[in-house]
Amino acid sequence: RYFMIKYQKIFLNDKEIEKAINNELIRQQDRIELIASENYVSEDVLKAAGSILTNKYGEGYPHKRYYGGCENVDVIEELAIERLKKLFNVKYANVQPYSGSVANAAAIASLIPKNGKILGMSLSSGGHLSHGYKISFSGYFYQTYFYDVDKNGILDYDQILELAKKIKPDLIICGASAYSRIIDFKKFKEIADQVGAKLMADIAHIAGLVATKLHPSPFEYCDVVTSTTHKTLRGARGGIIMTNNSEVAQKVDRWVFPGYQGGPLFHQIAAKAVAFKEALDPSFAIYQEQIIKNAKAFCNEFKLANIEIVSGTTDNHLFMINVKKSFNLTGKEATEILERANITVNKNAIPNDLESPQITSGIRLGTPAMTTRGFKEEEFKTLA
Ligand code: PLP
Repeated sequence: RYFMIKYQKIFLNDKEIEKAINNELIRQQDRIELIASENYVSEDVLKAAGSILTNKYGEGYPHKRYYGGCENVDVIEELAIERLKKLFNVKYANVQPYSGSVANAAAIASLIPKNGKILGMSLSSGGHLSHGYKISFSGYFYQTYFYDVDKNGILDYDQILELAKKIKPDLIICGASAYSRIIDFKKFKEIADQVGAKLMADIAHIAGLVATKLHPSPFEYCDVVTSTTHKTLRGARGGIIMTNNSEVAQKVDRWVFPGYQGGPLFHQIAAKAVAFKEALDPSFAIYQEQIIKNAKAFCNEFKLANIEIVSGTTDNHLFMINVKKSFNLTGKEATEILERANITVNKNAIPNDLESPQITSGIRLGTPAMTTRGFKEEEFKTLA
């Protein structure tokens, strides 16, 4: 009974899909979920995401739609925007991006011309595909370069400055998918200023921590900030874009629609709005604090057993284990072994990884999902 989630089984006329969804419910309840980018949303978020809003079309923005009958979805989108602005204390917000990757596409296009130069964090150091990797839009439509972490797995801002001076990027992207230390947005701003680059922060992973002031905020330093809504923020899946600059905000709106997207997904926007309200509640800060306490307790237990933690330790909701060095296993093998023990993690490239992205030498462990299910430090120690 402990650590269960309260979701209900669903009943559909389509029995094949009903069965697969209900099997997924069992999987989500029975396994220990350590994927750092996943979480368990509230029943209200789930209801909004599964609501009749999926029927509605409404290209454009509140009170400026290309479709009739938008009076209710206008209320919903405006509430989502207002709540998001309050949550991050920012002037402009776009809540329509279908995902974090599309949010990044629209944000980048709002800041630099096509074929412009981007300097982002490399994938093996913990960056995201959409920060310039060749197989994503970002590496296809822009000239991209990467900074890495140092030999201790930590961002070295002097090295990044040297690289930026050589490359002279139009845009620097900071923010990561797999970096367990604090990101110094102020230092990134100083680097961007020295080379005349724009600065974008992608806080997809740490959004909940930033919203509750448990991680420094990028807003005073960045031209634009993007995020997903479904990781530490614990909302419905999707993306958001925020800025304090009115000119950038206009470009962002134009690049989201009609630039990269069509009609907004109002069921997702409503579910995001519900999650933003939950995140504004004082209980959310307590939850975020527990995420960090749990990550530290979990990580520490591995350190006591001399297990190699990438970047040394964790300041946030996740950390990586070098399973190659610690257990002579690949990330793929470690993931499969843990799966047999009902523990879900993901394999993850680590700095200077000699294995391919399909194999890797690391695994990434995150505490947001199990913290939602009530795990505290003791449970994480036992789990370690
Ligand atoms: N940015 C970062 C830092 C991420 O970690 C992710 C997802 O893992 C994304 C963007 C992309 O989000 P989505 O999967 O919603 O496109």
